[in-house]
Amino acid sequence: MKLATKIIHAGAEPDPSTGAIMTPIYQTSTYVQEAPGVNKGYEYARSQNPTRKALEDAYAIIENARYGLAFSSGVAATDSVIKLLNPGDEVIAASDMYGGSYRLFTKVWERYNIKFIFVDTTNPANVQAAVTTNTKLIWLETPTNPLMNITDIETIAVIAKSANALLCVDNTFASPYLQNPIDLGADIVMHSATKYLGGHSDVIQGCLMMNDAALREKLYFIQKSCGAVPGPMDCFLVLRGIKTLHVRMRQHCENGEKIAHWLRKHPKVAKVYWPGFEDSAGYAIAKKQMRGFGGMISFELKDESEKEVKRVLSATHLFSLAESLGGVESLINHPASMTHASIPKEERIKNGLSEGLIRLSVGIEDADDLIADLNKAIG
Ligand SMILES: *Cc1c(COP(=O)(O)O)cnc(C)c1O
Repeated sequence: MKLATKIIHAGAEPDPSTGAIMTPIYQTSTYVQEAPGVNKGYEYARSQNPTRKALEDAYAIIENARYGLAFSSGVAATDSVIKLLNPGDEVIAASDMYGGSYRLFTKVWERYNIKFIFVDTTNPANVQAAVTTNTKLIWLETPTNPLMNITDIETIAVIAKSANALLCVDNTFASPYLQNPIDLGADIVMHSATKYLGGHSDVIQGCLMMNDAALREKLYFIQKSCGAVPGPMDCFLVLRGIKTLHVRMRQHCENGEKIAHWLRKHPKVAKVYWPGFEDSAGYAIAKKQMRGFGGMISFELKDESEKEVKRVLSATHLFSLAESLGGVESLINHPASMTHASIPKEERIKNGLSEGLIRLSVGIEDADDLIADLNKAIG
């Protein structure tokens, strides 16, 4: 089945009690049992909920995985993966990644004696060099937030396998429409469903997809034992969002391409980060492992003064100044003071994230209107 068909029909079985085509929002905490232990497979809603089940089935299908699990946020999904580990275990993680993942790793989990080694994963030799007998997990993000760096998932999967470590890929930026890490050898795919999967800036949610049944059991155990589960209304919103993932992503990609090329020609713009430029470092790998280049773009102005950067950030009208990404509406963001403020400044600079970097989440409005808005703001 082709992707568009899978996306529409993923997890969408008519409701068994009424035939409702849309999965009902099962707003319940518990389920009545006929006798102790005699029930329809539903006991308590932290462990099972039919709305969540429909979404988890959809998650699996859209990532070509056997299993999906939903969590109350993207970071809750990430947190659950780290809970697979034991004190003394080591994680090799990308040095350029979402600030909240970095904060979770270094500020929460390092206290429990899990060691994180941050390397530039765009060069697989760095990952190989960081492997020790304690390496249990490799954590990748590609394209990265916010510098759009591309890592070769297939190559890192080979390294992970030979190290006997799990490979988890944060696939939030690409969405399953553009990239399927499980097909490339990853063990777990993680998404902030808050972004492209939900797609309408109205819900916080995360998910994990995997093929291995034993791994699914371990993660399900963590999901129900630690309890970071999404409510049924939130699951319904993501189920609804997923139905238009392919049409939204097509437009995000089309608009992203137009705006990336336009920005690059703008006399006041110094550098544009977008994986679709043929001369960008990650282009060949992006072309190989992605079906398009998406609507996330970062750029630097020639005038990097704080005053000018702040002026541009506040001067757009269609691009709203806000954290987050992946919604139908366009957003503009200042990673250094917003999404990535939790990464120490020296670390940010070392990884190439400049104080003046501006990040765009290009929405699905008319591209000409978006360009006119940016043109007026940049001046
Ligand atoms: C937003 C984001 C997260 C965290 O997800 P939440 O839903 O906000 O908890 C993780 N990774 C990436 C790449 C993100 O953009």
